[in-house]
Amino acid sequence: MNNNQSLHSRRQKAVAQGVGQAHPRYTASALNSHMTDVDGRDYIDFAGGIAVLNTGHRHPRVVEAVKAQLDHVSHTCFQVFGYENYITLAERLNTLAPGDFEKKTVLLTSGAEAVENAVKIARAATGRSGVIAFQGGYHGRTLLTMGLTGKVRPYKASFGPFPAEIFHARFPSELEGVSIEDALESIDAIFHCDIGPEDVAAIIIEPVQGEGGFRPAPKAFMQALRTLCDEHGILLICDEVQTGAGRTGTFFAVEQSGIAPDLITTAKSLAGGFPLSAVVGRAEVMDAVGPGGLGGTYAGNPLACAAALAVLDVFEEEQLLERGKKVGEHLRQGLNKLAEEFDCIAEVRGMGPMLAMELCEDRDPKRPAAELTRNLLSTALEMGLVLLSCGPRGNVVRILVPLTVDFEDLDRGLEIIAESLRKLR
Ligand code: PMP
Repeated sequence: MNNNQSLHSRRQKAVAQGVGQAHPRYTASALNSHMTDVDGRDYIDFAGGIAVLNTGHRHPRVVEAVKAQLDHVSHTCFQVFGYENYITLAERLNTLAPGDFEKKTVLLTSGAEAVENAVKIARAATGRSGVIAFQGGYHGRTLLTMGLTGKVRPYKASFGPFPAEIFHARFPSELEGVSIEDALESIDAIFHCDIGPEDVAAIIIEPVQGEGGFRPAPKAFMQALRTLCDEHGILLICDEVQTGAGRTGTFFAVEQSGIAPDLITTAKSLAGGFPLSAVVGRAEVMDAVGPGGLGGTYAGNPLACAAALAVLDVFEEEQLLERGKKVGEHLRQGLNKLAEEFDCIAEVRGMGPMLAMELCEDRDPKRPAAELTRNLLSTALEMGLVLLSCGPRGNVVRILVPLTVDFEDLDRGLEIIAESLRKLR
């Protein structure tokens, strides 16, 4: 019989250690915001498979749609023989993406692939090579996306050399004393010291940095980036792999800044637990790449498209954006209350239901509490709550609970965080 211990020792022998694992536990089954491990222990899931389960584990509509699709066709490769649900999904994403202009979509498999393709498209459309990304940003584990990522450990250390023509600007952060002006000045410095704006194809930004610590980009900063891009003919790419599919209270987080990027990458919760990603963007920009330049064998797989269409239906039928906002408000209130009690909580931040708390000694942002964060994760796990950390210093506890979560589970999760912090005090 399998148990956590036996599976963990088999894993340690069979699986490369470079594949991290936040918790040495193994799932037997999962439903909505609950997981049961192979030892029969139940957990409330505040991690959502790293932002993949905005509609919860195995939403009945998603399961039903994938089962129905299996009875028809599971793979043809869209580049060989098309199928309708790819087209329908593209149509729906084109409508959902902000911007009063014609849009087109390409479907892919992983978030990193979407980002790679967005950069390819931007380079083809502008005839320029440079890309500006942000310190603390995360865009994936492939060579180009590692190059774009602005966090050394564990993502970049020992994997270089990285692709050329990528530059990192500062990301605004009140807690760290980086103002919007500082961040804009850092882009200006890149224009003067590294690459002229006329050679920059794109600026890529996460509207809320995910792995980088759930740092929302201020609205005024997003607007300034839009103006800067327009001034210099640079394309603005929003990487919404983590923030998209309703995570922040709007379908795409960038909607809340009142601007429209030229390209959006999205993945994770888009297909409710199935591997699917997309680049959605201005039709004429997307069409800068000729036939054969985009795609992938599994890209836009029919099972994943069926799942994604069901996810979009769930958002409509269950008014999940509205529910997500309520979940976000409830959580923020709960976390703010915790911040009053515990002086290790330096900041509660995020956007809508994409929330996190940064842990520091005596609320001092210069003294990140990474060990306490690790201990909180393992103590909470013992009490039945799955949490994840993030941030360049590993001291941010992030919450990516399904938006379909029961409010009792939400409260129980908050209670477990409080009880764990009390134990660790
Ligand atoms: N971009 C962002 C903003 C992400 O959060 C992630 C995944 N954490 C990626 C890209 C990469 O996605 P994937 O792991 O599916 O390649």
